[in-house]
Amino acid sequence: MSQPYDVIVIGAGPAGYQAAIRAAQLGLRTACIDKSIGKDGEPVFGGTCLNWGCIPSKALLDASHKYLDAKEHLGEIGVVVEGVSVDVPRLIARKDEVVKGLTGGVAALFKGNGVDGLPGTGRLLANRQVEYIPHDGESRVLDSGHVILASGSVPMEIPPAPLDGDRIVDSTGALEFSSVPARLGVIGAGVIGLELGSVWNRLGSEVVVLEMLEDFLPMADDRIARDALRILRKQGLDIRLGARVTLAEVQGDAVALTYEDSDGAQGVEVDKLIVAVGRKPYSEGLLSSDCGIVTGERGAIEVDEHCATGLAGVYAVGDAVRGPMLAHKGMEEGIMVAERIAGFKPLVNYDTIPNVIYTHPEIAWVGRTEQELKAEGVACNVGSFPFAASGRALAANDAEGMVKIVADAESDRILGVHVLGPQASELIAQAVIAMEFDASAEDLGLTMFAHPTLSEAVHEAALGVAGHAIHMVNRKKRG
Ligand code: FAD
Ligand code: AMP
Repeated sequence: MSQPYDVIVIGAGPAGYQAAIRAAQLGLRTACIDKSIGKDGEPVFGGTCLNWGCIPSKALLDASHKYLDAKEHLGEIGVVVEGVSVDVPRLIARKDEVVKGLTGGVAALFKGNGVDGLPGTGRLLANRQVEYIPHDGESRVLDSGHVILASGSVPMEIPPAPLDGDRIVDSTGALEFSSVPARLGVIGAGVIGLELGSVWNRLGSEVVVLEMLEDFLPMADDRIARDALRILRKQGLDIRLGARVTLAEVQGDAVALTYEDSDGAQGVEVDKLIVAVGRKPYSEGLLSSDCGIVTGERGAIEVDEHCATGLAGVYAVGDAVRGPMLAHKGMEEGIMVAERIAGFKPLVNYDTIPNVIYTHPEIAWVGRTEQELKAEGVACNVGSFPFAASGRALAANDAEGMVKIVADAESDRILGVHVLGPQASELIAQAVIAMEFDASAEDLGLTMFAHPTLSEAVHEAALGVAGHAIHMVNRKKRG
């Protein structure tokens, strides 16, 4: 029998591969099993995030943003570009090259750190044994001191809109269109629906987004969500709220959509339809019937705040467990678990998970919203600063949106930061650091920021909490 492992990780998405690398760094004998097959038919590590999620979507978002900029906005600043066109096959091929580089990088990191990367399926048996079924070869049973389940998530489907892989696709299919659909439907105005809808809208599709909720981005700050809705609609996304899709039927070359809104049944016809109604934890084939673990509500593996399952030595991390389905949340959980196995006592701070929607302008936030705090009766002060008053944003011809900071009225501790604007995904990191160190709005206000930068909007919003932002007239002066 082969020598037992200290740690076997099942799943090499961001949660699993980072757990495996950290465990190996800490001197633990580690294997990581993943069953994904890439576009070229070869096994790949990196999970949803690298292969079909964060990275390919950002490659298309960045490319489509550059295209639109060249086509519509560079002229505004005196840069004349003529004959701009889009080469969709090249766009997709380049996206694939980025993905391949990064998934190859994970394989190289495994090798360099001494992680046994095992392509194939893993299944948890009783007593922390794992059945490893290679893609082509005999299955074998591996012993391990600890097992980390990191099996991720898959797109949800809804009965009215069954996927056909051609006209009706999920997020994975929407990363692979071979040409720009003239008319595109998106079900769901969540993060993925807005990002993928934006990609194809920028490239020329007429996009209609159907969202059953009346509220747009209910998890975001109310003001930011309202401004984002207005801006995205202005960009051409036809976002229809309170519109619940009840039927999607392929009819020849088109998809006939029926939805219900407050006026009754409505119809719209599109050429392609993206179903982006959320994701669900995935654990198919992962757990043998006698392994001792059952999944809870919505299929998530139940864990405590340290990602421990009820079974000694068995942990679960990432999208497969409770909490927001975000790559960085899973990464931190993976690292926490590896370090706890090695005897350290780290924690994940679930109160400072940044959220980002990579539309343009980007939408990002961390912590609590003003409306949540008000509903709970927490007194807070708010400072905000528009990018329209930021020298750097104006110089860059990119001045939509604002930074908003919510701080506890008594202690001035920052409770939430909300950004709609250029590079919001980068700016929000400043807020995460501030909140991680329990900073007050005054602390941020007393910090020096380089000029001219977008970050100054964070500084000004912090000053605005006390009513003395410099580059705007303050209605409330608090000190
Ligand atoms: P996954 O990445 O899903 O990886 C799980 C892996 O485990 C998979 O490779 C799977 O094949 C493998 N596996 C499952 N079961 C077994 C088994 N029994 N044996 C072997 N292998 C198994 N998040 C962000 O934070 N930022 C973004 O910008 C972002 N953009 C996204 C865009 C899109 C279009 C999508 C779909 C998702 C996006 N996400 C984003 C979400 C992000 O991809 C996930 O939160 C993240 O991938 C979860 O990581 P994970 O390691 O838990 O699982
Ligand atoms: P997210 O979970 O952020 O990816 O968002 C998915 C969105 O899809 C949610 O806002 C849901 O309200 C929405 N949704 C789910 N089912 C339907 C449906 N049948 N019609 C329209 N929107 C839907």
